[in-house]
Amino acid sequence: MSRKPLMAGNWKMHKTIAESVDLVKKLASLTGAPTDREILVCPPFTALAAAAQAAKGTAVQVGGQNMNDNLQGAFTGEVAPGMVKDAGATHVILGHSERRQFYGETDALINKKVRLALEQALTPILCVGETLAERDSAKTFAVVERHLTEGLKGLSASDVARVVIAYEPVWAIGTGKTATPEQAQEIHGFIRRKLEALFGSAAEKVRVLYGGSVKPDNVDALMAQPDIDGGLVGGASLKAEDFARIVLFQAAPTPAR
Ligand code: PEP
Repeated sequence: MSRKPLMAGNWKMHKTIAESVDLVKKLASLTGAPTDREILVCPPFTALAAAAQAAKGTAVQVGGQNMNDNLQGAFTGEVAPGMVKDAGATHVILGHSERRQFYGETDALINKKVRLALEQALTPILCVGETLAERDSAKTFAVVERHLTEGLKGLSASDVARVVIAYEPVWAIGTGKTATPEQAQEIHGFIRRKLEALFGSAAEKVRVLYGGSVKPDNVDALMAQPDIDGGLVGGASLKAEDFARIVLFQAAPTPAR
C-alpha cells in the first residue's frame, strides 16, 4: 500500500488576510501541481476563507487549526466544524500540543472533535507526542499510545483510514531540535503497529506525519523513512520558498509494500 505524502503548514497565530493570500499564491506558483504529494496550509480562522479562495484551481488545500466540539450554539469566541468547512477547509488540525498545553484540551475532548470532523467530511489531523519530561522518564511510548487509543476511540476501520496522524515530539516544536530520522521512524513504526493492532489492515492507509522543526535541510532525510508520510510544519511554513522546498522534498515517496 503506498500512501501519498502530505505536507501541511501550521501557520499558528501568524499572517493577516492579505499576507495569507500572498503566501498561498507564491506557494502554488513555486510548487506547481504535483500529483504525487499533497499540499495543505492551515491559516488562522480570520484568513481561512480568503486563503481557500486564493487556493482555488491550485494544488494547495486549506485547513483549520482547531474547531469547537459542538455543531453550533452559545460558545462565544468559538468556531464550529461546519463553519471551518464552510470557509473552504478540507482538513482540520486537532489536539495540537499547544491546545493540550495552553487550553487544557483532553484526550476525551479531542476524540469528540475527531469524530465530529469526520461527520462533517473534514479530514482530522490528530496530533500526538510526548513532552521532554515524558521522554526523559521513558514514557514516550505510553504517552503516544494513550493519545492514539483515546483520540481514535469509537472509530471504525473505514473511519480511521480517513484520519491523518501527526507525531510531534513537543520538545522538537519550535525549538530547532529535530528528532533524528531514526528516532522519528522508531515512533512512527510504533504508531503503525498500534494502528494495526487497533484497526487491522486499515493502518496501512493512515498517513503519519512528522512534526517538530522540519526544515528544508532535514526534510529529505526524514522523508526517506518508511513510516514517515509527510510533515506538519510550523515556522518553516511561513516562508513560501522554505515551505515549497519542503513540499518538493527529494526522497522517494513511500514505496509500495
Ligand atoms: C508545529 O507547530 O506543529 C510545529 C511542528 O512547529 P515547528 O515546525 O516550528 O517546530
